[in-house]
Amino acid sequence: MQAASLKGKTALVTGSTSGIGLGIARSLAGQGSDILLNGFGDAQEIAALQTDMAREFGVKVLYHNADMSKSAEIASMMHYAADKFGMVDVLVNNAGIQYVANIEDFPVEKWDAILAINLTSAFHTTRLALPAMKAKNWGRIINIASAHGLVASAQKSAYVAAKHGLVGFTKVTALETAHSGITCNAICPGWVLTPLVQKQVEARAKQNGVTIDKAKHDLLLEKQPSGEFVTPEELGALAVFMCSAAANQVRGVAWNMDGGWVAQ
Ligand code: NAD
Repeated sequence: MQAASLKGKTALVTGSTSGIGLGIARSLAGQGSDILLNGFGDAQEIAALQTDMAREFGVKVLYHNADMSKSAEIASMMHYAADKFGMVDVLVNNAGIQYVANIEDFPVEKWDAILAINLTSAFHTTRLALPAMKAKNWGRIINIASAHGLVASAQKSAYVAAKHGLVGFTKVTALETAHSGITCNAICPGWVLTPLVQKQVEARAKQNGVTIDKAKHDLLLEKQPSGEFVTPEELGALAVFMCSAAANQVRGVAWNMDGGWVAQ
């Protein structure tokens, strides 16, 4: 695959203290990009992540603790990025949460939080990142949607609505930047074994009275024909491709990497 060569560039990956976001941040750092991490977690563990990544890839790694459900905190993070790095060249909107319940039982505050974090936060980061990208006539915006941005599952109303919304927002962003060196695309992962999915596996094991391994197996079998999890490293490699010159005309796609989930 063509290297993206991101030396001298800065990538902000929201929700990158764990899982897919961390995998993508590491892949972009591997191409020489400085990184702004974001997300929740233990302060010492996050500091260690920063030091280790900086040492491993020879790039600057900073961190901002903005809560992606709060527009004022997102604005502070974008100002921090501009102040420390000049601008955000690669924006990866990845922060996301999940909640599983039937619509009539769905807690209203969970609906609001999922829409805010999984969808509205991407509007705020994008609107604040675009002016500097337009001035430079280069930028990459990568929205981490989901197979649930393309198809639905029961009991995931807020998540499916937010991810379909994110795919729509991706297309509008791609159209509004079509005459520039800025591209915007979505990545739609299938099951990836991160803390977000581990919680669903554990709930399933408890509900069905089966082992964690059996619950994992059943979860995969139900949706993902390959029977294997997608990895954060594979998703990171796709993000790197989207940042490369070879992807200059890849605009507004919702690229599923899902073990065959939406081919069915
Ligand atoms: P994860 O739980 O491992 O990581 C989520 C990250 O988001 C963490 O860094 C967490 O601290 C951060 N975060 C959560 N709420 C936040 C908030 N309010 N403000 C700032 N950061 C916040 O989850 P993951 O599986 O790596 O998911 C990452 C993205 O990938 C999500 O958007 C998710 O919907 C999407 N996704 C995951 C899968 C999967 O199978 N794991 C599949 C498709 C899409």
